[in-house]
Amino acid sequence: MARLKIHTLGSKVLQQKAEQVTEFDGELSELAGKMMQIMVQGNGVGLAAPQVGKSIRLIVVAFLVEGALIEGEERFSCIVNPRLTLGGETRVREEGCLCLPGIEGEVERYSLCELYGQNLTGEEIQVSFSDLPARILQHEVDHLDGILFIDRISLTSRALLSKKLRQLRRKRSEED
Ligand SMILES: [Zn+2]
Repeated sequence: MARLKIHTLGSKVLQQKAEQVTEFDGELSELAGKMMQIMVQGNGVGLAAPQVGKSIRLIVVAFLVEGALIEGEERFSCIVNPRLTLGGETRVREEGCLCLPGIEGEVERYSLCELYGQNLTGEEIQVSFSDLPARILQHEVDHLDGILFIDRISLTSRALLSKKLRQLRRKRSEED
């Protein structure tokens, strides 16, 4: 597998609806492993396949407990074909994204979610999450539908960020 890199604002793959995963093979596990490395190196708490240029429904997440990474093997999770049922109240909190370096914004998200999906071997999973993990999941699943957090911030906040966003897009097109 070729070296993966983070795609930033302006890259088309970030705006596409990602494809359902149907093959639970070694290639999928290898991609998930590489995504975890990239997530850790970038100090991220979650990463979706489109962020590394792969338009498939796979996310990796580092779940947090009271702001700290959970130690041990279980601190990372790979979820294939994730679906969320949202509930609870909505809360606003600052978010960032590896695809939008240097940009942060206040995003409203639900406080509870039920996660349905599959693991890397194709087994069905169903888990409940609240607070920060629920927020991370909503952010990552959004990526699979071509939605970035800046699509969910207020128009005022977006206007304030417009200069930075323009610079990012310009940087991207220079790289292409
Ligand atoms: Zn993101």
